[in-house]
Amino acid sequence: MDWQQLSKEQQTVAKVLQHAIDRKELAHAYLLEGPAGTGKHETAMLVTQTLFCEQPTDLGPCLTCRNCRRIASGNHPDVIWVVPEEGAASIKKEQIAYLMKEFAYHSVESGRKVFIIEQAEKMTAQAENSLLKFIEEPHSGTLALLITERIHQLLDTIISRCQVLSFVPLSDHAIIRRMTEEGLPQPLLKPAVALTHDYEEAARLSRTEWFAEARSQVLQLLKGLCKSTEAAQLYIYEKFAPNFDDNQKMTVGLDLMLYWYRDLLSLHLNRREEVVYEDQMDRLKEQMLSFSSDQAVQAMSLILDARKQLDAHVNGVSVMERLVIRLGGIR
Ligand SMILES: [Zn+2]
Repeated sequence: MDWQQLSKEQQTVAKVLQHAIDRKELAHAYLLEGPAGTGKHETAMLVTQTLFCEQPTDLGPCLTCRNCRRIASGNHPDVIWVVPEEGAASIKKEQIAYLMKEFAYHSVESGRKVFIIEQAEKMTAQAENSLLKFIEEPHSGTLALLITERIHQLLDTIISRCQVLSFVPLSDHAIIRRMTEEGLPQPLLKPAVALTHDYEEAARLSRTEWFAEARSQVLQLLKGLCKSTEAAQLYIYEKFAPNFDDNQKMTVGLDLMLYWYRDLLSLHLNRREEVVYEDQMDRLKEQMLSFSSDQAVQAMSLILDARKQLDAHVNGVSVMERLVIRLGGIR
């Protein structure tokens, strides 16, 4: 994460922090709050490395100097990073004791000290109170960055003494860009993001074998449907039903079908950038020749009907069976 990317994803946060760093007017404590997967941890890293970097550029820290590397690996003596153990209800006593001891000490080498507390809502009352004391009487050159997804679980007194930086959910576009950078399987990204509109959920989904299989089965089913309703029905019984064995999975299946027809509509409307099944462009274009935009809209409304039936707890396989017959009717 560099400043340019942060500006794209979290414009306000980037502006506030860059302005404060440029003018050397950082507050003593910032509270980075907002949903998971919005870049709070990465922002804390970016700020810290920017402050300590030996050769910073306009974009941000160099990431290669000794300080940048030590911060990234958690080995800089003036950067105290507290992370609760996975699944733990609160930040451990020893971690708090360590933190309190560090609050009391001045910087070891740089005249500057940064405290980063992740999942800050997991601090005990005792820890919150000593943090409060620290924020009220900070040593010069110290900076506390508190990170939380649950701001309302923090003491009001802490919130009111921090400058709050609210992170907004990422746009679909930003989620796709990030997932691409992480090297997640390309054909799965757009469908996963269309389904979830959430970075963490989309990343999780696109890592599962089930989702890859689900996507390819939906495409197979649609292919079968182009040939004959009977072929599609057979496919449902033999291959589709065992993989979509509860209504939640079947809902995903229906959504994946919906995107196909929406893609056809997008192509008719010349909105190529909205196409979810990018890697199926040849097939989409071919089907588009014999499938009008009106038919695409009709198909979408049939799928939405089927979704309603699933929500009303009708058996998934029979919903799909009926849907396929109805979709066959608009060919
Ligand atoms: Zn550096």
